[in-house]
Amino acid sequence: TRKEEEEAIRRSNAAEQDDLRSLRKYSRQEYLKKREEKKLEELRDDIEDEQYLFDGVKLSEVEQRELRHKKELYELIKKRSEEADNVNEYRMPDAYDQEGGVNQEKRFSVAMQRYRDTNAEEKMNPFAEQEAWEEHQIGKATLKYGSKNKKLASDDYQFVFEDQIDFIKASVMDGDKFDNDEMADSIEKSKAKSAAEALQEERKKLPIYTYRDELLQAVHDHQVLVIVGETGSGKTTQIPQYLHEAGYTKHGMIACTQPRRVAAMSVAARVAHELGVKLGHEVGYSIRFEDCTSDKTILKYMTDGMLLREFLGEPDLASYSVVMVDEAHERTLSTDILFALVKDISRFRPDLKLLISSATLDAEKFSDYFDSAPIFKIPGRRYPVEIHFTKAPEADYLDAAIVTALQIHVTQPPGDILIFLTGQEEIETAEEILKHRTRGLGTKIAELIICPIYANLPTELQAKIFEPTPEGARKVVLATNIAETSLTIDGIKYVIDPGFVKMKSYNPKTGMESLLVSPISKASAMQRAGRSGRTGPGKCFRLYTAYNFQNDLDDNTVPEIQRTNLTNVVLTLKSLGIHDLLHFEFMDPPPAEALLKALELLFALSALNKLGELTKVGRRMAEFPLDPMLSKMIVVSEKYKCSEDIISIAAMLSIGNSIFYRPKDKQVHADNARLNFHTGNVGDHMALLKVYNSWKETNYSTQWCYENYIQVRSMKRARDIRDQLAGLLERVEIELTTNPNDLDAIKKSITSGFFPHSSKLQKNGSYRTLKHGQTVHIHPSSGLAQVLPKWVVYHELVLTTKEYMRQITELKAEWLLEIAPHYYQLKD
Ligand code: ADP
Ligand code: MG
Repeated sequence: TRKEEEEAIRRSNAAEQDDLRSLRKYSRQEYLKKREEKKLEELRDDIEDEQYLFDGVKLSEVEQRELRHKKELYELIKKRSEEADNVNEYRMPDAYDQEGGVNQEKRFSVAMQRYRDTNAEEKMNPFAEQEAWEEHQIGKATLKYGSKNKKLASDDYQFVFEDQIDFIKASVMDGDKFDNDEMADSIEKSKAKSAAEALQEERKKLPIYTYRDELLQAVHDHQVLVIVGETGSGKTTQIPQYLHEAGYTKHGMIACTQPRRVAAMSVAARVAHELGVKLGHEVGYSIRFEDCTSDKTILKYMTDGMLLREFLGEPDLASYSVVMVDEAHERTLSTDILFALVKDISRFRPDLKLLISSATLDAEKFSDYFDSAPIFKIPGRRYPVEIHFTKAPEADYLDAAIVTALQIHVTQPPGDILIFLTGQEEIETAEEILKHRTRGLGTKIAELIICPIYANLPTELQAKIFEPTPEGARKVVLATNIAETSLTIDGIKYVIDPGFVKMKSYNPKTGMESLLVSPISKASAMQRAGRSGRTGPGKCFRLYTAYNFQNDLDDNTVPEIQRTNLTNVVLTLKSLGIHDLLHFEFMDPPPAEALLKALELLFALSALNKLGELTKVGRRMAEFPLDPMLSKMIVVSEKYKCSEDIISIAAMLSIGNSIFYRPKDKQVHADNARLNFHTGNVGDHMALLKVYNSWKETNYSTQWCYENYIQVRSMKRARDIRDQLAGLLERVEIELTTNPNDLDAIKKSITSGFFPHSSKLQKNGSYRTLKHGQTVHIHPSSGLAQVLPKWVVYHELVLTTKEYMRQITELKAEWLLEIAPHYYQLKD
């Protein structure tokens, strides 16, 4: 009966942290309500206990304070809870499939319309003034930079300019007024001091330092605070330290989230250094597959995705006293989801401080979302930046970037260069070309130090970008978008902006996702330019025309949630007990289609049942920090008795494409070595397994890797990941079993996860995806590229000149009927 049910719920609420997991089966509003009740009950018990035990006994001051604190909390939560009861916010119909689809659609389109309307209002373009300026300036373009028909400063350098690019100076981005020499002075002075002292001096020179006390006061006064400040003002490295100094780490850790792994690692390293502690002790970081923290950790830098996962184990983030969602303007998928979750828990954790920090002007939007949270602005310290556009569009931006860098190097006064490129491959190419072009020049030009930075760069090399440039030399940093706001490199005076970024795009109709090199937004372009004006007046060279800027670039980047596959997020939310996704409080809702697609796929993978509820399989899948299709492949390996083999494959797939090494002068050798693993046309997944197992047999030998043209660094990473997956298998109680001789068992496991990626050979040698009839091709690097099996299942699609399937295994058509009869009804 109802009464009994309620009693059961009450009892489970009183239970310890572990039992919180059981709460996840409730809908979001029930869940929150129960969390609140639980907290109230705890507090009431505590208060009563203490009053009873100490009745008549004089409490110590600390005890009194503690008791007072608890009473305050109790009142606060109670008041909020009553207020919340009077709001209809959470009273919407629950399961999305209980209501007619039409109605849902309609509600969604209303929300969408509202979103568009707000956007329309925002058409108050913040750059309007700037653009007008530019137009005016372009009209009377006066200053030409490095123009062909101009005599160069020195004839010595003419050889560099066989090809060169014409720029037009378009405008100047104003800086802020402050004492220019102050900083240079202090840096000079600090040189004489000990390194540790100098470091502390440096901290005090950051713009944020002046506002330290005000900031702490604001944090004290408000539960949620939006913080806005220029990149490099010290938000990420200083705020957590200030909070620690002010005592916020006494009752829990401080979490600071970053959208990028490299940023989390690099910033944690910096802060550990500033505090004079070993990285991983008091200051640590946590990124997927790498936890560099310990029991001592009080400042924890982490990717936004990792904090999201922590909600699974600790739905109220009880171990944290402060959560700082940093780089909020990036609006990554995980950050957007975090917004909603932290907002939720702040209701019953009034002691939890929330900081939302951002480098740009979206502050109002964040503030609105967090119930008009106050905005704390840290005035920037920015010098003016001259903006130059190319006269004509550049066909090859990579080449143009290199030519521009060399032009700057030989004609411009000292100051480092930052080039924004789209990814590792491009950065490596640029590095090679730059080295090649400067090599022959010897002492004719000053030394050019080339520093790449991208996500997979080994940690030891990452630190190099921060090393001060020696006198007489110039540094050129080749960076991905990570240098736009996440990392600040001191000494940059020149920015080269080709105007592109690698971005995920998703087609909800077909469920296909690809990484595409796309034009950046105007907001991004302004951020990039700003990077050159941090320590002195700067120059930004845009490798596109002012017309392009004006007409081809969007004002702002579309939030990731609106252009990505949501399967993973939906699975996470479902495991958190959040059922009603269509009414989840997204800052910007994702397309309804994308949500439905995700639900459909999770249903096909048996992670959800017909009612959209999490199944046992789904619950197990959610434990793995992987794409749901990979998780499913792992979970199902229990059935096929090959879990050991499958996690090796999953670990190797997670490494991406950096396993085989193909030096330019030994390509034939490398290709032959690679073919060895494909004997018998076993397919790419099995080849990866063979690589892993062979390496393991040699006792993880480095020598073996060299001999087989395999990157030992990638293999070690795969081993780490595999170890963690093995640990997670234990957690979900799946035995380690191996079945290396039953090829079909392994292939069936793969198919069970990846059947939505099946395709069939066509007469012309191309393939058609089974579900959506899209034409795709086998990637030339696949071991099956010459074999062309009739049916294949692929790991991922990459779009280059064609839509290619990468990592392929052959399958038998009847497996699809066996494994996914509800997904495919095959005709032939
Ligand atoms: P914000 O978060 O406001 O953009 P940060 O706190 O990241 O600013 O940076 C403050 C200062 O710390 C900058 O001057 C930056 O150069 C310096 N810094 C950050 N990380 C490192 C690092 N790994 N090595 C050296 N300096 C760093
Ligand atoms: Mg930062």
